Amino acid sequence: MRSYLSALQEDIIACSVCSYKYCRNVCAVYDVLRSDGVAPSGFNHFALGILQGMTDYTPSAAEALYKCSDCGACRVHGCVAPGYGEPIDTPNIILALRAEATERNIIPDGVRILLDDLRAANSPYADSADKRTAWIPSSMETGRPAPVYLWAGCSGHRHRDALHAAARLLQATSQGSTLDLGTLGAEEGCCGLLAWQLGDRALAVQQARTAIQSLAEKRVRELVVAESGCYRLFKALAPQAMGLDVPFAVYHLSEYLDRLADTGHLKLNRPVAKVVAYHDAGQLGAHMGIYDAPRSLLGRVPGLQLVETPYNRTQTRGSGQGAGLELLHPETAYEIARRRLEEASRVGAEWLVTACPAEAGHLAAVANAGPGGFPSPVQVRELSQVLIDAAQEQP
Ligand code: SF4
Ligand code: SF4
Repeated sequence: MRSYLSALQEDIIACSVCSYKYCRNVCAVYDVLRSDGVAPSGFNHFALGILQGMTDYTPSAAEALYKCSDCGACRVHGCVAPGYGEPIDTPNIILALRAEATERNIIPDGVRILLDDLRAANSPYADSADKRTAWIPSSMETGRPAPVYLWAGCSGHRHRDALHAAARLLQATSQGSTLDLGTLGAEEGCCGLLAWQLGDRALAVQQARTAIQSLAEKRVRELVVAESGCYRLFKALAPQAMGLDVPFAVYHLSEYLDRLADTGHLKLNRPVAKVVAYHDAGQLGAHMGIYDAPRSLLGRVPGLQLVETPYNRTQTRGSGQGAGLELLHPETAYEIARRRLEEASRVGAEWLVTACPAEAGHLAAVANAGPGGFPSPVQVRELSQVLIDAAQEQP
């Protein structure tokens, strides 16, 4: 059996001498469950036991490993490893533990089912082709070669309004410029991120390689990605962790649109008179460092007042969506989202906006009919939904 932990042993040992455990204060899952076993420090303690041969993977230990949304908050802030000089890479340690548990076939039944679905349908949801492509505007041809492609994502395409708005925004910018936009449509499979997060690294690499090959065959030069997790996969994990060649430039939709707004190709002139709090999606902010582009776009919208919750930018906390948490432990994931909505309400926001269709879909589900079925006073919008209302030219 391979050891994925050995490459991380310096971090694991450095964490073992820390008595501060500030990381617990930033973890959204620990905030809800209050169990040391699911705190960042608890995962690292378990990893030390595995490395030293003092403990082993058991069904109950494996169950705990999946109580993490890979939000990245515990790495980007909250860790003060004594004398170590840099934060402990706890999210990577947790994914390494999952990879080892998966290779030993000691995983919860829910994870096994998700991985079976990913293998069989190339998606965690087994959505029909019609459902996967419902967001695509009738003016957009799928599957033809084009220099710029929009990637929707397995969870992203389920937020039909957000993806539809994203495509229309990109099409709107083509007026007066040369943007030639395509998308894979029903041919688009999973990028591999969820399999990577769940621990099946062979499946993840296979899915990522297939996705990259499909895009390369369409002669794509620029890939614009709406879902924050897929963006991280193509931009960072595929070339760096998987060793795959990515033969096109990768942009998150927010940075691509902000650049088009800078050059005057996207005009956001229509007022949107709302008080808006922006939630930093973990895969986009904590993992990829994109905090400014979404705020810059919102700042361009006339009449829109941007406010910040206490947990913004590098001080972020997760929404509960990600790494399978909302599928495997929905009650925990919903309670986490409810707390983010409450924080937005406390700073006077009417809308909570995030730049990821997957996180927006999760937050919106809780806002509309959360635990107990009480709708939140704060409504949720994906960034593209706000921008399409503000865009001057709409096809
Ligand atoms: S990645 Fe997020 S959910 Fe996971 S341990 Fe760190 S702070 Fe908690
Ligand atoms: S993750 Fe950082 S703050 Fe938490 S126990 Fe380890 S060293 Fe300390």
